[in-house]
Amino acid sequence: MDNCLFCKIIKGEIPSIKVYEDETVYAFNDIEPQAPVHILIIPKEHITSAADITEENSGYVAHIFEVAAKIAKEQGFSDGFRIVSNCGDSAGQSVKHLHFHLLSGRDFTWPPG
Ligand code: 5GP
Ligand code: ZN
Repeated sequence: MDNCLFCKIIKGEIPSIKVYEDETVYAFNDIEPQAPVHILIIPKEHITSAADITEENSGYVAHIFEVAAKIAKEQGFSDGFRIVSNCGDSAGQSVKHLHFHLLSGRDFTWPPG
């Protein structure tokens, strides 16, 4: 999608610090980390949000969780992490390309604010 920040990051038009990449998924460090580890994992196909997950594209979500577990194992934080996807303005979604925040390295409270 032409005017999408994360599509531009995937294409390399905007620089990012890559953590993982394969044919369908890209993971990179968040520019404004909310924890010592703050990685964004996104499908390369433009999907606007979690509200747009369908039977056809839900495989990306399963794969993203696989990738998250792999990154956690490789980076040594399998014992404690949080995965968050904000969907829509009221939930605080600022970039309208489906993304999963992978956070670790500190304690997290529940319920979230
Ligand atoms: P949201 O608020 O939509 O759930 O998450 C969007 C995330 O994208 C935020 O955590 C924000 O810091 C991150 N972000 C926004 N612009 C950029 C950017 O240009 N580069 C990177 N690496 N992260 C960004
Ligand atoms: Zn996009």
